[in-house]
Amino acid sequence: MNQALFDYIAASPTAFHAVSHTGALLEKAGYLPLSESDDWALAPGQGYYVTRNLSSLIAFRVPEDGFTGFMMAAAHGDSPAFKIKENAALSDPHYVRLSTEKYGGMLCASWMDRPLSIAGRVLLRTESGVASRLVDLREITVLIPNVAIHMNRNANDGMSYNPAVDMLPLYGLSGAESLRSRIADKLGVSEDEILTTDLFVYNPAPGVQWNELISAPRLDDLQCAFGALQGFLQAKNGKACPVYCLFDNEEVGSQTKQGAASTFLRDVLCRISHALGQTDTDLRRKLSASFLVSCDNAHGVHPNHPEHQDKNHAVYPGAGIVIKYNANQRYTSDAVSAALFQLVCDRADVPYQRYANRADMPGGSTLGNIANTQVSLNTVDIGLAQFAMHSAYETAGAADTTYLVRALTAFYEASITTAADGVYTLE
Ligand code: ZN
Repeated sequence: MNQALFDYIAASPTAFHAVSHTGALLEKAGYLPLSESDDWALAPGQGYYVTRNLSSLIAFRVPEDGFTGFMMAAAHGDSPAFKIKENAALSDPHYVRLSTEKYGGMLCASWMDRPLSIAGRVLLRTESGVASRLVDLREITVLIPNVAIHMNRNANDGMSYNPAVDMLPLYGLSGAESLRSRIADKLGVSEDEILTTDLFVYNPAPGVQWNELISAPRLDDLQCAFGALQGFLQAKNGKACPVYCLFDNEEVGSQTKQGAASTFLRDVLCRISHALGQTDTDLRRKLSASFLVSCDNAHGVHPNHPEHQDKNHAVYPGAGIVIKYNANQRYTSDAVSAALFQLVCDRADVPYQRYANRADMPGGSTLGNIANTQVSLNTVDIGLAQFAMHSAYETAGAADTTYLVRALTAFYEASITTAADGVYTLE
């Protein structure tokens, strides 16, 4: 399972590629692509997927006849990276560097002295307008060199990294073929056809399994994106409509036209419902018996720094799915959603552990509470325990990928009915 995860990560250097690759895997499994601009005629029993901005994706299977509600899982396909600015080349008589800015909040030190590549989306001029193409240079294209210890004796005493100075990637010596020309070559187009780009520096290193751990780039959140996708694909049809979401822009707050704060999920659920001849009231009734699992990796206890964890809510790689709690609802889990998800884990015979931040550490946020502002329903925040979140190379538990697949398979096969507010049957 982890080798398949590493292949998924290698094929997903950016959110655009994660969506493209996920779409290809769905099509291989018989799912049909839909466009938001088309009329949707949905066939019972058929699976479909739709993308927005080529960087977010929602897949679903149409129930054979009536259905109880939507059983949904969401993960994010973007990761912290350096976005290459439009006028990229910073040339002097000796070197060419690239002008970049931070996308999300990364651990800067981990990006240094490491062979890096470039991938993203290119907008081309066509005869009648514009067209998008994805590009992945794959080969080593840039590197961010450290300053030698001899010239910075304080380098091991806590460094601060200025993104406009310290983190600019070196592209080559002066005279190197321009990045634009290289991108044009890779796409087989002329430079004049390139109107603009969304390009990112990424880590192309392959994933490895060692002892009981795995290390790879972008485990946050591709480990969850992959695990939830496998659960979605493997689940047999139950009484609910299964939905899989892969959102872009979680690392920058989700408030984009395709992020978890957008109308994308709500729009898709409305359209499924209307295509099946349901009224708006039917949809609202269905949402009361629906459930969202927001999947995003969690902070495992650091071997050298266990003091960062709340003692009673310490979670470990390899020890099962993490259910995340936060009193201020940065994580959406509450007693109801956590209880229902625990039943699912029990049913799948998958271990789970509970995480809460230390009360004096605010911690991060994720998708669940943001998606709830557009589609409000019972939601649990879960993840898999990992070290070094937002490093260029992260580490997690080898057993947990399979745990997530098993739990999400059981989740997608289940359905919920409501007898009264707070009283649920899980079938
Ligand atoms: Zn994440």
